[in-house]
Formats: sequence, structure tokens, C-alpha cells
Amino acid sequence: MAAEELVAGTLASQGLPRGTKRPAAFLDRDGVINIDHGYVWRIEDFAFVPGVREAAAELARLGFAVVVITNQAGIARGMYTEADFVRLTRWMRERFAEAGVALAGVYHCPHHPTEGIGAWRVRCDCRKPAPGMLLAAARDLALDLQGSVIFGDKCDDMRAGRAAGVGLRVFLGKDGLAAPAEPCADALVSLRYASLAQAVADPALRRALPGGAGRERAAPAGARCGGNG
Ligand SMILES: [Zn+2]
Repeated sequence: MAAEELVAGTLASQGLPRGTKRPAAFLDRDGVINIDHGYVWRIEDFAFVPGVREAAAELARLGFAVVVITNQAGIARGMYTEADFVRLTRWMRERFAEAGVALAGVYHCPHHPTEGIGAWRVRCDCRKPAPGMLLAAARDLALDLQGSVIFGDKCDDMRAGRAAGVGLRVFLGKDGLAAPAEPCADALVSLRYASLAQAVADPALRRALPGGAGRERAAPAGARCGGNG
């Protein structure tokens, strides 16, 4: 219960006490945020899955740092450059901002262990299912991983989440169009939905969110803990 109280305290206070960790909502990109045409790198090819920006904004409103974690082996394969990825990411951040959510971070893995060209061919610790991007985000952004939730359309997203100790793992359908098709063991998955929008709209998901969904109804931390100073 200590962790839940910590989360509630995080949400209740505008100025976070030093050392307090935030919960994150980790989003995979291709197939969750945008339609996965395969190696999307051009703005003109980037189509948002319906409702995803509004759902992300709702997660931010609930107190989650919204963080994108994405394998980008197209860089390793020489199909586009990191500069191309950065340009698309800047544009994507602006579109999220228009919907009311400032992304707390966007982490990408540019590597591939067997298909990478030159220095990109490396067995790294960031390519999902490895947890490297999640762990880096947790360090950089002072995140409470056990109090966090990850949304992905591949079982490797769920594996990465479990390896990092992310408390809630939500398996989504590719491109938000269907129930998850890829097999993934129940032990890896907390809940399954077609899309982020469908997930965030479901009271069952909100109740399952680490820290309680009740986050919005929780007594302010100050009412319980404050007053000493
Ligand atoms: Zn990597």
C-alpha cells in the first residue's frame, strides 16, 4: 500500500517533493499510436490510430507521464536515418500537444542484432523485449515502474514491461482495429483491448491502473500527511 500512497501523493501535489517518483503510461508507437504500414518515417505516411491522442491526454490528466518507447530497426537497416526519426518525432509531439498532452519522453532503439548495417548491428539492451528503454526512462524521468502501465500491440512490449517491473501490461490490437491477434501468454498480459481509446474508456482498466483508479477520488496526500511544517 505504500506504493499506492506514494502515487496518490504524486498526483495530489503540484510541486513534487524531492525524490518522489511519478507513474508512467508507456506507449508503443507503430500499431498503437499510428497505423503500422511498416517502417513509417515520413510525416505524410503517419496516420494516427483514431482516438489515441485523446486517450493519451486522459492518461496525462490522470497523473501519468506519457512516454513513447519504440523499436526503430529501420534505422539499423538503413531505410531512414535518426535525423528522419527525430523530425517525425518533433511533428508527432506537436500533434499530441495540440490534443492537450505533452509527451514526457520518446525513446527509440535504432539497432538490430542481425540486420543492422555497420555499427547499428549490435545486440543491445534497448531493443524490446529487452527493458533498456523503460529503465532509461525511469532513470531520466524519476518514474515509479511498479506504478506504471505499458500499452503495446506486440508480445515483446509485454515482455519488456514485465522485465522492467511495470505493474500493468495492456495488450492492444494492431492499429486499433481488432482484438490482439498475436499470441501472448496470459501471465504477461493484464488486460486486452482493440485500441488505447477503448482501453482508457473502460472502467475496468481505470480500476486496474496501478495506484488505483480511484486516483481521482483519492484523498489528497496533504490531507493525510501534510501539516508537519
Ligand atoms: Zn537498441
